[in-house]
Amino acid sequence: MISSITYENSLDFAQKMDALDSLKQFRNYFHIPLIHNQEAIYLCGNSLGLQPKAARNTIEQEMLHWQTLAVEGHFLGKQPWLTYHKQFRPLLSNLTGALPHEVVAMNNLTTNLHLMMISFYQPTSDRYLIIMEAGAFPSDQYAVESQVRFHGFDPSDAIIEIKPREGEHILHTEDIVQAIINPENKPALVLFGGVNYYTGQVFDMQAISKAAHEAGAYVGFDLAHAIGNVSLHLHDWGTDFAVWCSYKYLNSSPGGISGAFVHERHASNPDLPRLAGWWGYDEATRFQMKKGFIPQHGADGWQLANAPILLMAVHRASLDIFQEAGLENLRQKSILLTGYLEFLIQNDPILNQTLHIITPSNSKERGCQLSMLAAINGKQIFDKITDAGVIGDWREPNVIRLSPVPLYNSFEDIYRCGETLSRCVREVNII
Ligand SMILES: *Cc1c(COP(=O)(O)O)cnc(C)c1O
Repeated sequence: MISSITYENSLDFAQKMDALDSLKQFRNYFHIPLIHNQEAIYLCGNSLGLQPKAARNTIEQEMLHWQTLAVEGHFLGKQPWLTYHKQFRPLLSNLTGALPHEVVAMNNLTTNLHLMMISFYQPTSDRYLIIMEAGAFPSDQYAVESQVRFHGFDPSDAIIEIKPREGEHILHTEDIVQAIINPENKPALVLFGGVNYYTGQVFDMQAISKAAHEAGAYVGFDLAHAIGNVSLHLHDWGTDFAVWCSYKYLNSSPGGISGAFVHERHASNPDLPRLAGWWGYDEATRFQMKKGFIPQHGADGWQLANAPILLMAVHRASLDIFQEAGLENLRQKSILLTGYLEFLIQNDPILNQTLHIITPSNSKERGCQLSMLAAINGKQIFDKITDAGVIGDWREPNVIRLSPVPLYNSFEDIYRCGETLSRCVREVNII
């Protein structure tokens, strides 16, 4: 794959790029949705990833096991249900930069965030602050507020939100680090998104982890928009915990199985407070069904309940594709694809005047998503491109998010998106 490139605004160029793309066959692994009976230009993987064609088959296998084996399916078949979750260890550890026993597929994202905060937010009268990014995803805000209240503190006092500088949209790492290590703050927990859902900014998770530990706090990340999108090294960064969902870049079905990371240093610390359930119990003796909870070593020890196999079957189909494609290869293509979309917007004078990209221009500070502020008529532009077959998403009050996904988007998709945007912006501006 080419690492630096001179982009051109032409179909011919886009098709040449596709011909050179060693990952182009992966598009055929997915169902592409239709708009007006034509394949859509789907740039919404930040919200819901496309359906892997293989998912139907992996679900049907488990339906068949249920049909023919019933309860014996826990022990028989190719992937017995009792240990079904274990197949995700290598796959998820590759995606997160973790050791295999530091990751587990379970629950959904907000549930996992609460479970992790039970363990890693232990406020005292002297140290009770949570530092987070301003404008975090609403579910995270509600989870944090409710945890703070649950411990008897006042969210307006206990939560510090780091805001962009006046007139800016993205955060400076030095401002984040300063707020964390400021001796007046004394945080109990630092909680950040890996990638901010609104701006698409990738936060410096290594610097944030280091600063949090220097300040004597635990640190956790919500990787909803980061996993399957950017490189992660949770183990080496020393991050205490992380959570994610799998229906965005991981293409594992709406509301699909989520995941969590717990750093090895907490793997066998039975003294960490946690909410327990039988599936987190030490495997060797779980079925003795004795009183007194003994956690399984590693992230598995945070599981509550037996696994939703049908959701996990989809997850398996999807993660196998990542394994085959390789995250580093995907990342290289992603940088080129997103760079191409940026080029097409910034090199069209009318588009460039109308749509202001707020996502950082440095590829190290962004994943595949570009967020753009519409100077005028944003919603009309958005509705028009949707009708013309470009699926992105709209965030009030005036942001359009478009995310070229390297697994299933082509350079031709991006070229056509640019062409559609340009036409629709001109039409709306004339009206
Ligand atoms: C998508 C997303 C969620 C959604 O939470 P669910 O529990 O999966 O409904 C939460 N937080 C962030 C940052 C997200 O991007």
